[in-house]
Amino acid sequence: MVRKTKQRDVILRVLLGTASHPTADWIYEQVRKELPHISLGTVYRNLNLLKLEGKILELDLADSLSRFDGYAREHYHFRCERCGHIFDVDEPADEEIDKRVARSTGFTVSCHRLEFRGLCWDCQPQGTAEGIANSPRNTMQVGSGGQS
Ligand code: ZN
Ligand code: MN
Repeated sequence: MVRKTKQRDVILRVLLGTASHPTADWIYEQVRKELPHISLGTVYRNLNLLKLEGKILELDLADSLSRFDGYAREHYHFRCERCGHIFDVDEPADEEIDKRVARSTGFTVSCHRLEFRGLCWDCQPQGTAEGIANSPRNTMQVGSGGQS
């Protein structure tokens, strides 16, 4: 019987080890290499707990499956409309917009979700991304593998 904390540690380690913003299914496949008897339901349950503890983010903007993020500070993402890869965007989260909306609506605003969309470098027509003075390569952190 595997201890519960051990399961959670493995799941968190898998998530911290990738910048690919994986789905729960992908995380499950990785975790199973180490804990062959874990169930998908257990993975979901632990992802949810980690989310509630503020240790991970769930990217729930998606028109598709939820993806998870081991980088728990509020930050923005770019989703490629062609290959579906999700990249971190190194742009500080705008806290002013929360305050503005709170003032104009009277709601209590805890956060906002913003996702940029377009084409990543690999998906742009050949040459388009070259020669741009302030290349996005300098301002974005690229996923280092894992999911394709
Ligand atoms: Zn792409
Ligand atoms: Mn991210």
